[in-house]
Amino acid sequence: MSASSSTHEHVVIIGAGAAGLSAGIYTARANLSPVIIAGLQPGGQMTITTDVENYPGFADVIQGPWLMTEMQTQAENVGARVIYDLVTTIDASTRPFRISLDSGASMTADVVILATGAQARWLGIDSEQTFNGRGVSACATCDGFFYKGRDVAVIGGGNTAVEEALYLANICNKVTLVHRRDSLRAEQIMQDRLFKKDNISVEWNREVAEVLGDDGGVTGVRLASTTGEADKEIAVHGMFVAIGHDPATAAFKEAVELDDEGYIIAEKGGTRTSVDGIFAAGDCVDKIYRQAVTAAGMGCMAALDAERWLGEQS
Ligand SMILES: Cc1cc2nc3c(=O)[nH]c(=O)nc-3n(C[C@H](O)[C@H](O)[C@H](O)COP(=O)(O)OP(=O)(O)OC[C@H]3O[C@@H](n4cnc5c(N)ncnc54)[C@H](O)[C@@H]3O)c2cc1C
Repeated sequence: MSASSSTHEHVVIIGAGAAGLSAGIYTARANLSPVIIAGLQPGGQMTITTDVENYPGFADVIQGPWLMTEMQTQAENVGARVIYDLVTTIDASTRPFRISLDSGASMTADVVILATGAQARWLGIDSEQTFNGRGVSACATCDGFFYKGRDVAVIGGGNTAVEEALYLANICNKVTLVHRRDSLRAEQIMQDRLFKKDNISVEWNREVAEVLGDDGGVTGVRLASTTGEADKEIAVHGMFVAIGHDPATAAFKEAVELDDEGYIIAEKGGTRTSVDGIFAAGDCVDKIYRQAVTAAGMGCMAALDAERWLGEQS
């Protein structure tokens, strides 16, 4: 598509991760000629992971990027068109909706499905990057099983960190929660559960100075003190960063209602947003499950909701 060109599309899906591609498969098979706008990360978050063994349908371990290539090919094979561009704004005050793209092009759409996902927050230290995918993770549900019977650290002090620590405590030998303050932000009920677990301990007033490791992956973390104590090292095989996620919804903040964390607000149990004709699916809505299979499921739901909504308009 050339810059400054404008087209009209029946259904535009924004995002080409599990949610967007699944919505693409379903809307294409409903004969709705969807266009999927892929953004900066075609395939989504699953393209930055390696081993995946919890996506149903595969008896053996598969690779995240491979899965997403298959999903995109499947969507294209049934008629979805993928455009490599970034949505900058949506004007939801007009019908059809007007979508502006980073290339300078624009398009109008009768229906929009938002599936732009979220990005995990990282600590931002070099060694974290070095061992990402080789002992460093931001998802206990995704990667915890790879550390069965081993020792791991969870970094953070909010609900997510405590949830991740509790989840890992059922799989791993020992979990060390590392928090830079002397009290947790997590809800009291979560903290009570945490402190009851024999195999979870907390390193208070500490932050990660360096992830330690070798060719085999992570071997430990060096913890700096936030209260002037000396650094200390703990031996772990995995480090789970649990300091939050940022939903990729900045482009829609004027278009649909977001909650105070920036997640799109959708109807309970469905995918309708605050704007009639705009639906949302996957990690840009969901701050609880955050899995490829749940995102794909929500993509299917959004496609079915969109198809029904279009039927109601005629
Ligand atoms: C390291 C890692 C490992 C993981 N491992 C697993 C696992 O083993 N199993 C599992 O089930 N889940 C795993 N997950 C979680 C899983 O990846 C996510 O739950 C899933 O990818 C969410 O899909 P989504 O389609 O909602 O969003 P995403 O995958 O985040 O995709 C978002 C899409 O939107 C696009 N986009 C964003 N903004 C714009 C814009 N303005 N314009 C156009 N496009 C835009 C992006 O380019 C991308 O294509 C892992 C996550 C990470 C980070």
